[in-house]
Amino acid sequence: MNAPPLFNLAETVVKWVDVGIFVLNKNFEVQLWNNFMAHHSGRLAEEVVGKSLFEAFPDLPKPWFTKKVNSVFLLNNFAFISWEHRPYLFRFAHNRPITGGADHMYQNCMLLPLKAEHGKAEAVCVVVFDATDTAIAQNLLKEALETISEISNRDGLTGIYNRRYLENRLSSEFDRARRYGGTFSMILFDLDHFKKVNDTYGHLAGDKVLVEITRRVKEKLRSSDVIGRYGGEEFVLILPQTPLDGAHQFGERLRQMIAAEPVIFNDISIPVTISMGATEYRADMPGYAALTHQSDVALYVSKGAGRNRMTCYAPELEAADAKP
Ligand code: GH3
Ligand code: MG
Ligand code: MG
Repeated sequence: MNAPPLFNLAETVVKWVDVGIFVLNKNFEVQLWNNFMAHHSGRLAEEVVGKSLFEAFPDLPKPWFTKKVNSVFLLNNFAFISWEHRPYLFRFAHNRPITGGADHMYQNCMLLPLKAEHGKAEAVCVVVFDATDTAIAQNLLKEALETISEISNRDGLTGIYNRRYLENRLSSEFDRARRYGGTFSMILFDLDHFKKVNDTYGHLAGDKVLVEITRRVKEKLRSSDVIGRYGGEEFVLILPQTPLDGAHQFGERLRQMIAAEPVIFNDISIPVTISMGATEYRADMPGYAALTHQSDVALYVSKGAGRNRMTCYAPELEAADAKP
């Protein structure tokens, strides 16, 4: 049996290969349209070949794609379009389960100049690769990494930010204030005699108190405020655009609200109070650690002065040996 001529073989391959292949002349008239393109677009080669691509497919991004194809004609060189820059050229359906999160076929496209004998591009061949599997896998990976990053910033018990995040956030707020001006305040607060709560009512009751206090404070925050758990029963508030007197007023309201209403656990009423220390960003601070240090100094003055109170930092407090 004689082998079929090679050009026939090539034609058959182009027709049946599982990637989209079509050819455009300089007027953007379709010269070739393979089965992949026909199958996914629902338009047979007979309907499309000889027609303007943009008339046949008015939804195509015409100015952008025209520019791409023209650059191939002009430069006589191939071009590549990644799904990461533009998810698709043709809005085709895909055959993956809907749970994959993609509602269309992602596509990579290669544009190849087809050169006549004198070496100038006479037509452009566009190869469309289905990149849906790669895109779904990459999107899932991205989501997983975002979830991991979110979890690694959260406290397991209360769901608010943890110390790791707070340190980063304080540092970035500090840098922002230093670069662009403006101010922000930090409040550190600590539950009073919390060890006694655990000792008297049990650890579960202690956990409930932490969760409930978090909930109450969160309710009073503005959306730009940040709350985090700095350590065991120690919390931090970062209040953007808030000078110290504003932080003082706000902290006082929180303190009074918490003292006014005991936490109920298994029908037991547990009285809770907090001690607070606040400070404000200043341009002459050497770094953000000055904020944690100053609010800590102020907090310990509150503790030393009898607890259930709010203290604003002042340099004179450094001298006082206020640690209870
Ligand atoms: P002060 O008024 O001076 O702050 O006294 P305190 O008893 O609150 O402070 P201390 O540092 O002596 O005790 C803190 C307690 O907080 C001890 C620790 O077991 C408890 N604690 C820390 N983290 C948790 C937690 O996640 N759950 C519970 N239930 N208790 C915790
Ligand atoms: Mg405490
Ligand atoms: Mg403590």
